[in-house]
Amino acid sequence: MATIFSKIISGEIPCYKIAEDERYFAFLDINPVAPGHTLVVPKREVSYLFDLTDEEYVGLELFAKRVAEGLREAMPCKRIGEAVIGLEVPHAHIHLIPINTERDMDFSNKQSLPGEQMASICARIKEAVDKKLGA
Ligand code: 5GP
Repeated sequence: MATIFSKIISGEIPCYKIAEDERYFAFLDINPVAPGHTLVVPKREVSYLFDLTDEEYVGLELFAKRVAEGLREAMPCKRIGEAVIGLEVPHAHIHLIPINTERDMDFSNKQSLPGEQMASICARIKEAVDKKLGA
């Protein structure tokens, strides 16, 4: 059965999409631990990040790097934190989170932001990421 992320990638389930190319896809986490919390996933459905091929893994990180550059521009912060958990959704993914303090990466602090706010955050990040990806 397709994972929830595969359904998002195919458009079956809506998301706040940030960017995609032939192999990778980035979208806002529905329950961000900080505004701008973005997930970066390979389109190929692989459960565990470290089961990706070396090439896919490096490609995913390079794609995440471009997304992180745009994210930092759109959501001013000290750093973009990166995390891998993968306990909830069995489809490899990287969390990118704008942070100013360690607490901004507290996964016990998930929020639910109003749709309007998610949409405006998404548009801001997408514009900055498009520039980095030359889209
Ligand atoms: P993990 O698998 O790394 O433990 O967490 C999965 C992440 O995916 C969580 O932060 C959760 O909020 C996010 N997530 C789960 N379902 C959805 C969904 O349907 N849409 C979006 N945008 N994010 C989701």
